[in-house]
Amino acid sequence: MSKKEILSGNQSIARGFYEAGGGVATAYPGSPTVEVIETMKEYHEDIYSEFSMNEKVALEVGIGACYGGLRTMVTMKHVGVNICMDPLMSFTQSPVDAGFMLVTGDDPGMASSQNEQDNRILGKFANMPIFDPSDSQDAKDFVIKGLELSEEYKTPVMLRITSRICHARSTVELGEREEHMGPKFEPDPSKYCMLPPHTFKHQYTMKERIEKLQERANDLEINKLEEKGSDVLVITSGICYYNFKEVCPDVDVFKLGMVYPLPIDKIKKLSEKYSKIIVIEEMMPFIENELKLHGIDCVGKEFFSFTGELHSEVIEEGLVKLGVIKERQLKDTSKDDTTARGPLFCAGCPHRPVFDILKKAKVNVIGDIGCYTMGLLYPWEVLNANISMGSSLGIIKGMRLAMDKQGDDQKPIVGVIGDGTFFHSGLPGFANLKYQLTGEENITMIVLDNATTAMTGGQPTGESYHMDNMGQDMSVEDIIRTMGYDDIQRVDQFNYKEAKKAIVDATKRKGVSVIITTRPCALRYKIKETPFEVDPSICIGCKTCIKTNCPPLRMKKYEGFDKEKSSIDPNQCVGCGICAQVCPVGAIKRKKESK
Ligand code: SF4
Ligand code: SF4
Repeated sequence: MSKKEILSGNQSIARGFYEAGGGVATAYPGSPTVEVIETMKEYHEDIYSEFSMNEKVALEVGIGACYGGLRTMVTMKHVGVNICMDPLMSFTQSPVDAGFMLVTGDDPGMASSQNEQDNRILGKFANMPIFDPSDSQDAKDFVIKGLELSEEYKTPVMLRITSRICHARSTVELGEREEHMGPKFEPDPSKYCMLPPHTFKHQYTMKERIEKLQERANDLEINKLEEKGSDVLVITSGICYYNFKEVCPDVDVFKLGMVYPLPIDKIKKLSEKYSKIIVIEEMMPFIENELKLHGIDCVGKEFFSFTGELHSEVIEEGLVKLGVIKERQLKDTSKDDTTARGPLFCAGCPHRPVFDILKKAKVNVIGDIGCYTMGLLYPWEVLNANISMGSSLGIIKGMRLAMDKQGDDQKPIVGVIGDGTFFHSGLPGFANLKYQLTGEENITMIVLDNATTAMTGGQPTGESYHMDNMGQDMSVEDIIRTMGYDDIQRVDQFNYKEAKKAIVDATKRKGVSVIITTRPCALRYKIKETPFEVDPSICIGCKTCIKTNCPPLRMKKYEGFDKEKSSIDPNQCVGCGICAQVCPVGAIKRKKESK
């Protein structure tokens, strides 16, 4: 009897790659796909896996492994594909011998992303076939099928998965691993060197293989037609398939496993049989536009939301407008059913004192991407621009130029960037900043060095290894110094007063000053020192400590006191001491160790 397990979509992708005989898997950590590599590291030692410095490098390592004959997978979140578009657009011209799969985690509704980006568009742009799983079983099966088709048609393929499928769990039938080894690398410029005239030839290569795959799509078993005898046909894929079935189980549905290229001939034939074709898909009208391009009459986005996840309620509403169902049955889930909680820095987070200092200093702060992006949320609200990985350095330069021209040359401007983002794409920004400025402009860059990629669960950065005692140190300070910066200070932000003085003084100096804050992530390194406590007889209830927004702090009523006073949950407190340092009356002290 076959073995079954309940797996998340991400775990299933890792499992599929293992069963498919995968050899190398690389990634840059990013929600929603981060657990794919985590799972490989934990359970699938046969596969070499790494979290690379950024998505471009991850792809390039993957390209090398694929050229060398190993089945390869590269995973990233949707915006990560933007980072690797340059090599991707040339790589997909290569006729590959070993299976290659790019996994992109799209995020309809932007649960944990700065934008909503439909990477089916990028897959088509790069001439890749695209697979779109609906559950964990699909995710595993499509990895195996995708790699098979990759080798059969000599094309890199894309697995487009969405947050809901990545994190939801469902039953998966497990198989055995089948080893696969492609041919050894044989130098062949016509395949691996993308310059004219080879590139001209490969425009035709790519066109022909997509055309062949379009033919194949007509009888591809992962494109499934379910007939119930209705006179309308719904074409859908991904999670929309299940959300649609929940609302409308008795309508004919064509569930697409491969969403590009589409089984155009088959759909053309089907269109003769149905009075209407309805396309249900999240984000952009990708399938709908493809069908219309081929002259197939259909409706879609005008009846369903153009953004966010297409929950069953949204689909039901659209189907009522279309007259497919008479009235709504599903109850709208009220927003009041759950308690809203905003994202929050952890107890003892080393970013908290920095944002407290910046807020009080009332300076113009340019943010970057990482957990410190939460500096734009209540109660900090200090970030004034936040665009993409590593962008703080370019933006701060442009804004400085504009501020100086507007006569604001005395106003300080501060950029913040984490060490993970520094290594990801901050390095070229630092280099550009150094050699493009006169040295007279007032810019302060703070590198929030917590020695991890904290936002995605604590993956290592170039700076993590000294904390992990792995002897592979790369020092942010040494790198910046080597670039030619000399105004660099390392500060211990848990020494609040000194850190405040260093930061505020730096914002007043001309030239680019760099501050590196040095406390590691409390969560990643499991830091827990003796907690602090409030003496209610000293506390004046001013709430200065509460404003540091540390989770263990709250106001409460003590017996014998009329006014509410601050208190600290000792189980949550990790003993960083920031609240004690901001208290104006010294009411917060470290607990005495019990003997
Ligand atoms: S010492 Fe204060 S700021 Fe630090 S973790 Fe405990 S409650 Fe939070
Ligand atoms: S800062 Fe000090 S005085 Fe103010 S509420 Fe907190 S513990 Fe009490």
